[in-house]
Amino acid sequence: MKYSVFSLMKNALSGHKHWGRAWRDPEPKPNYDVVIIGGGGHGLATAYYLAKQHGINNVAVLEKGWIGSGNVGRNTTIIRSNYQLNGNEPFYEWSMKLWENLEQDMNFNAMVSQRGVINLYHSETQRDDYARRGNAMRLHGVDAELLDREQLRKKLPYLDYENARFPIQGGLMQQRGGTVRHDGVAWGFARGADACGVDIIQNCEVKGFKIENGTVLGIETSRGYIGAKKVGMAVAGHASQVASMAGMKLPIESHVLQAFVSEGIKPYLDNVVTFGAGHFYVSQSDKGGLVFGGDIDGYNSYAQRGNLPMVEHVIEAGVAMIPGLSRIKVLRSWGGIMDMSMDGSPIIDKTHINGLYLNCGWCYGGFKATPASGWCFAHTIATDSPHDLSAAYRLDRFKSGNMLDEKGMGATPNLH
Ligand SMILES: Cc1cc2nc3c(=O)[nH]c(=O)nc-3n(C[C@H](O)[C@H](O)[C@H](O)COP(=O)(O)OP(=O)(O)OC[C@H]3O[C@@H](n4cnc5c(N)ncnc54)[C@H](O)[C@@H]3O)c2cc1C
Repeated sequence: MKYSVFSLMKNALSGHKHWGRAWRDPEPKPNYDVVIIGGGGHGLATAYYLAKQHGINNVAVLEKGWIGSGNVGRNTTIIRSNYQLNGNEPFYEWSMKLWENLEQDMNFNAMVSQRGVINLYHSETQRDDYARRGNAMRLHGVDAELLDREQLRKKLPYLDYENARFPIQGGLMQQRGGTVRHDGVAWGFARGADACGVDIIQNCEVKGFKIENGTVLGIETSRGYIGAKKVGMAVAGHASQVASMAGMKLPIESHVLQAFVSEGIKPYLDNVVTFGAGHFYVSQSDKGGLVFGGDIDGYNSYAQRGNLPMVEHVIEAGVAMIPGLSRIKVLRSWGGIMDMSMDGSPIIDKTHINGLYLNCGWCYGGFKATPASGWCFAHTIATDSPHDLSAAYRLDRFKSGNMLDEKGMGATPNLH
């Protein structure tokens, strides 16, 4: 069923009791051309583009829980394409372009809101660094604007400009950045993929692979064996775990990242704002709650919840940036499992096993990449070759030393 003003009016006349299901709940078939493991944003987007762009629709997405139960439904919803390195910027900008047309494309309201992302700078060195990043963005045809303190004060008067320890000197703004309703993205891609014939199979955990003579033949699941010509892994925080079932050891560590939502308050925060003297990012949801987060907890874990020291750390940074935050109550918090790679950049690639493909290493920035990741991963699976936009995201860069280290941190996954 296509969502439109007419279908809304028609269903209103019957008390909204006859809407069809957004996607089917099929039994797994014995064989598929492609099986995608993981019903998060990346897995669902991959299935959608496999069907839509490449005409491959004998596809199943296997999700061990329910779709949207992973990071796609747990993130702080920020999208942006403000990268500096050549391997990254065109990829994230393509993602931004896909976001800009996504709702029309998949006929689903994902509440894409290009409200502007502002990264604050607090010193001259940091300003120069941001100017360099802004220039790199502009060279790629991407919008970037360096704001000084007075320009910023007009936009964000409630920041703590008098903080002697972290003086705010200005910010780098990408106006086309913003937020997207995170679980709406999972639902939109699921509905779009289902409409193209993809089977979305929930409560189906992958437990092992059948691999013979270096070729994948299928997978063992909690709902029985499923044969597949090609298998794509898009399991985010569980990447190392699932890859180990195929005998692979990945350059990935799993860490917890928490997010927080405050009580609803009147609209006052028009943009996404990030603190440059610590790690803190905040936006205001349509319901009025402030949505914010900071650093990962800093230890390896598969728990979808975090610990109190990071709560204190995040709130400290928030209050240093917006003192008024200290009077707002936190309503709820949760955690997600991050697939932290050694250089902070993702992996979209074939593996050494024929028919087995890998999508992981998104750290805590993979939500904004969802459409482009699905686009490029679908291309890799369909054509057996990397897409130009994701050519830098090869697995063998960790062997060759050809790192894509946007932050310049080195092989320290807990810091990326
Ligand atoms: C608190 C938080 C804040 C974040 N903020 C942002 C942000 O503002 N902007 C941004 O760009 N990114 C952000 N991220 C990162 C982003 O959410 C992730 O990088 C991205 O969602 C990961 O891809 P995904 O959606 O496919 O992952 P997921 O939704 O986690 O999908 C992976 C799926 O695989 C399933 N799975 C795992 N093992 C198996 C198995 N054996 N069998 C079957 N299924 C399996 C899981 O259940 C899960 O549903 C944030 C993440 C968190 C947790």
